[in-house]
Amino acid sequence: MIPSGARSHLAPVLAVDIGATKVDAAVAAPDGMLHDRRRLVLEEQLDLAAALVSMLRAMVAENDVAAVGVGCAGPMTGHGETVSPVNIAQWREFPLRAVLAEGTGKDVFVDGDARALALAEGAVGAARGQDSYLSMVVSTGIGGGIVLNGRLLDGASGNAGHVGHLTVVPEGRLCHCLSRGCLEAEASGLAIEAMTGRPPREADVTVRKHVGDLVGRAVGTLAATLDFTRCYVAGSVALGYGDEFIASANASATRVSTMPYTKDLRIERSGLDADGPLLGAAYVAWFGVAS
Ligand SMILES: [Zn+2]
Repeated sequence: MIPSGARSHLAPVLAVDIGATKVDAAVAAPDGMLHDRRRLVLEEQLDLAAALVSMLRAMVAENDVAAVGVGCAGPMTGHGETVSPVNIAQWREFPLRAVLAEGTGKDVFVDGDARALALAEGAVGAARGQDSYLSMVVSTGIGGGIVLNGRLLDGASGNAGHVGHLTVVPEGRLCHCLSRGCLEAEASGLAIEAMTGRPPREADVTVRKHVGDLVGRAVGTLAATLDFTRCYVAGSVALGYGDEFIASANASATRVSTMPYTKDLRIERSGLDADGPLLGAAYVAWFGVAS
């Protein structure tokens, strides 16, 4: 359960989701409705920062918003003081929060995209009522957010939840982080495409089960370490691979987490739809304003 403290401060905010291929923005109303949606396609932007500031400045001028919330691919430092998204080459140690604050004249709150999704999952998704859980995205890449005792864990640099870099295959495939056998290097959409030579959605049942097995191994290990019994998975691979994936993930999670306190561990589908990332960004703003 995400603390309800932010609820009493709800005012419309500008929500921004900076992903691997596009930036989505919308105005999020206190009831969770999204309107005035706008989008930038990354490959069309020679200067992404300038285009983003221009778009957000126009939205702020046309809408009454209290703050700006951003979910952005990591890694980052200090809640967006600098961001270096793996898939956005023109941003390396880019001062995202300051640039957007200056560009919009609003308070800007930034967090990792998967961490933002964890907030929305707890507030309005499948994790409602859960005090401790892992929220996970298995898509082009793999990310996550860890909520324990009602708090999203930050860690020393604000990057807690990067579950994609858990080692699941000793001396396995080379990861972009330069380690080997990371979950992201073995089970992400990019990894599946590299291994099979086909788009991830065309993977056969053997691959789907294998990916589920690796994800479950990571979840089970984390559950025993951190003491949670629910994991909610989102993303095109996790959701697109259907029951075969979920069953395989649960079987391996149960196999590796045998401590008494993890006996009820379950991996379930996210309760958020395609608007989840934008809602997550809105909650980054609402929690930021409230704290
Ligand atoms: Zn890695």
